[in-house]
Amino acid sequence: MRPKSTVIWSFFDEMTVNSAKCKQFGKSFSRKGGGTTSLKLHLKSQHSDKYEELLLQEQGNQQNEPQTAKQLTPLQECKKQLTIKDSLKNKGPWDEIDK
Ligand SMILES: [Zn+2]
Repeated sequence: MRPKSTVIWSFFDEMTVNSAKCKQFGKSFSRKGGGTTSLKLHLKSQHSDKYEELLLQEQGNQQNEPQTAKQLTPLQECKKQLTIKDSLKNKGPWDEIDK
C-alpha cells in the first residue's frame, strides 16, 4: 500500500515508485526511495507559489490539532500583580516623607 493521504499528488503524477511527473512542466524525474521529500523540494525551488499552496493544503488537514494558548492564565496574572505590589511596598514612599 502506498500512502496516498499526502496532498503532494495534486501537483505531481506518480509514474512508478521511483519516478514522478511534475504537472507544471510535464517533466518527469526520479525520486529515490519513493518518498515525497524531493517532490516538495522541487516545488519549493521551481514553483514557489505551488509550494505555498501545498503547505496551506497540508495545514488544512491538521485542523484538529489543539491550539497552544499564549495568554496567561488568571492565576499567572494574579501572581504577576502581587509581585508588582510587593516591589512597591519594598520601596516604601513613607521614608521619603520623613526627610
Ligand atoms: Zn516542476
